[in-house]
Amino acid sequence: MIKYIFIAFFVSSVAKASDVFNMTFLGTGTPRPNIEKLGPSLLIQNQNQQILIDIGRGTSLRLSQIGNDYSNIKEIYISHFHFDHIIGLADFWLTSNLWQKKLDTFVYGPTGVNAFCNNIMETYRMDLKYRYKNKKYSKLICSSFKNKKSTYDDEKISIHSFTNDHGHIDNSYGFKIKFKGKNIVYSGDTTISENVINNAKDADILIHEIFASSKKIIKNNKKLREVASTHTTIDQMISVLKQTNPKLTILTHALLFGVNENDVLKVIKENYNGNVIFAKDLMSIDIGKEINIFNLDVMNGK
Ligand SMILES: [Zn+2]
Ligand SMILES: [Zn+2]
Repeated sequence: MIKYIFIAFFVSSVAKASDVFNMTFLGTGTPRPNIEKLGPSLLIQNQNQQILIDIGRGTSLRLSQIGNDYSNIKEIYISHFHFDHIIGLADFWLTSNLWQKKLDTFVYGPTGVNAFCNNIMETYRMDLKYRYKNKKYSKLICSSFKNKKSTYDDEKISIHSFTNDHGHIDNSYGFKIKFKGKNIVYSGDTTISENVINNAKDADILIHEIFASSKKIIKNNKKLREVASTHTTIDQMISVLKQTNPKLTILTHALLFGVNENDVLKVIKENYNGNVIFAKDLMSIDIGKEINIFNLDVMNGK
């Protein structure tokens, strides 16, 4: 059963279908396995394009849940090489061939993405040999952001990469997603970052990661303090929001220790007036003249 929870954020005149694009959170989790929050992945689509941003654990399962057979997903963008953002690529690629995907899939990522893709294809060489004796199968065509020209075409969804600040990861990116005058910014994994802030000023939607912990847990855990330094704390998030003032902010990839989402929202809302919500898996958003949020929650008929 599909349940739609409908929330209209900004109401104005009815938009033409071709002016509306959609994004669906396939996974909103972290490296920690959680059946309710699979690995990070965001599906962006309009009538002619389907694009994935990150491809974490279970992306193929979520695509299957929403009835997507991958055949129209032509591009995948990878924010960085922490495994939680890329572990779903082999599954996606092999399953796409099982379902006879005709076209190759273009994968864009940080430097090293080419080797990463080639290694995946080499790792599964035996499976391909058994299944596709005629060698006709869809491939991963990968190139780094440095070799990709950014183009703006108002009729198409365009994805522009920018570096963020993910601590020891020297090759980590966020994205600006543009379509028909609308801007969505995806922070990627990052601590507070000038580049994210500059890109997110007055964005329609800011999708941002967050880290929060109880004082007791973080005081007693050195490793967690190191983790925190590469992510965005609540205080830093409030600073980002005050500097950027997006129309809607969606928190995802939430690393929460001894606190819950309501605790985080309470502190943020005491300090910032704008719309801030947490993402959940299968939350889907139509973006046009208005922003409509609904949940494609097909799990257990909930
Ligand atoms: Zn991550
Ligand atoms: Zn990371």
